[in-house]
Amino acid sequence: MAEAVLRVPREQFMDPNYREHAYVDQPFPIPGDGGQTISAPYMYPIFYEPLDLREGYKILEIGAGSGYGAALARELVGEKGLVVTIEINELTYEFASRNLEKTGYDNVKLICGDGSIGYPDEAPYDAICVTAASPRVPYHLIEQMKAPGKLMVPVGDAYNMFGQDLVLLSKEMDGSTKEVNLMKVAYVPLRGKHGQYR
Ligand code: SAH
Repeated sequence: MAEAVLRVPREQFMDPNYREHAYVDQPFPIPGDGGQTISAPYMYPIFYEPLDLREGYKILEIGAGSGYGAALARELVGEKGLVVTIEINELTYEFASRNLEKTGYDNVKLICGDGSIGYPDEAPYDAICVTAASPRVPYHLIEQMKAPGKLMVPVGDAYNMFGQDLVLLSKEMDGSTKEVNLMKVAYVPLRGKHGQYR
């Protein structure tokens, strides 16, 4: 994971107005409708290490944002793996697309659309990471997970001042699932069919 962080040039995924702060451990605004950020650097290992991303894995990211998380995932799953990432906001999608292209991560499958319903075309996935606050645990995505497979999602009201619960949902070999509540986090709202309504 540390090697992946060292390889991906975070400054290339920042809004030019904030580029000089690329290595400050905070989230920063990115182009969109105001509800988009590149997450703080420390959040990526928190998401990716429990997902146990390995060479050859197929991963779905919901909320492409800057494209930075997808580039990191690309480093972790390697050439044999697949990274699919979905962005609902068109401006943000274009930003992510430019960033991934100029940094040479052209082997990421970037989709513009509602990721709250997942992306059945490439399912099942070894890992799914939802990088926006979902009002509920998205049980409808379990059918797009492999067994075993893992899903990471911030659950709760995006406007709650205490943040949301970061939930790790594991699908076992026999198809049963279990959930662990890892910590409090603060994410922007998940929109779309299974998203937040404000
Ligand atoms: N992973 C990103 C940070 C994402 S911020 C990064 O590394 O930079 C959350 C993103 O989720 C925002 O860009 C927001 O527009 C997007 N989003 C919100 N709801 C969505 C949905 N239903 N489908 C796809 N993207 C969504």
